[in-house]
Amino acid sequence: YKVEEVDIVNLVRDNINQYRKEFIQSRIFPKFEYEEKLYKVTSDQKWLSIAVNQIIMNALKYTRMTEKEKKEIHFHLEEREECIFLHIQDNGIGIPKQDVKRVFEAFFTGVNGRKTREATGMGLYITKEICDCLHHSITVQSAEGEGTIFTIQFDKGEAYHHMMRKVTEL
Ligand code: ATP
Repeated sequence: YKVEEVDIVNLVRDNINQYRKEFIQSRIFPKFEYEEKLYKVTSDQKWLSIAVNQIIMNALKYTRMTEKEKKEIHFHLEEREECIFLHIQDNGIGIPKQDVKRVFEAFFTGVNGRKTREATGMGLYITKEICDCLHHSITVQSAEGEGTIFTIQFDKGEAYHHMMRKVTEL
C-alpha cells in the first residue's frame, strides 16, 4: 500500500462517473452531497477506489431489484471530530437482520445474494480487508425493503498520520 493524501471528493466523483452508463440504464439516480471544501484523507488512491467501487456495484445490483418508483444511491461526505465519513446509501432491497452482521464474511451471500446469478460473497470481504489495511473502518446499517448504508470512516488526527508513517517505515 501507498500512504498518500487522497482527495476523496475527486475519488468519489470519478467512481460515480465510471458507472454512469449503469446508472442511466437502471434508472438509478446518483446524488453526491458534501460541503464546499477540501476533503483530504490519508489513504491509498488505487485500493480505496477498488473498495468504493465494490460498494457501488452492490448498491446498483441490489437497488435494480426493487420496484420503487425513485431509485437512488446517495453519496454523502461528512466531517466530524477529526474524522471524515463517506456514506453510500441506497434505497434498494435492504439486508435482512440476520444477514447484516455477516456481510463482510468471506463467501457469505445471504438471502439477497441467492437472488442473483452473480453473487460470489467475496466483494465485501475484500472491501473490508482493504479498509483494515488502510486503517479505515467500514460499517453497515440496513433495513429490509428500505435500503442500505455503508460508511467508511477516515481518521485525520496527527497521531494517525504518525501511525501511518510508522506503518510504511516497517
Ligand atoms: P460479489 O462478490 O460479486 O459482489 P456478492 O454481492 O454476493 O457478490 P458481497 O459483495 O460480498 O457479495 O456481498 C455480500 C452479501 O451482502 C450479498 O450477497 C448481499 O446479500 C448483501 N449485500 C451487499 N451489499 C448490499 C446492498 N447494497 N443491498 C442489499 N444487500 C447487499
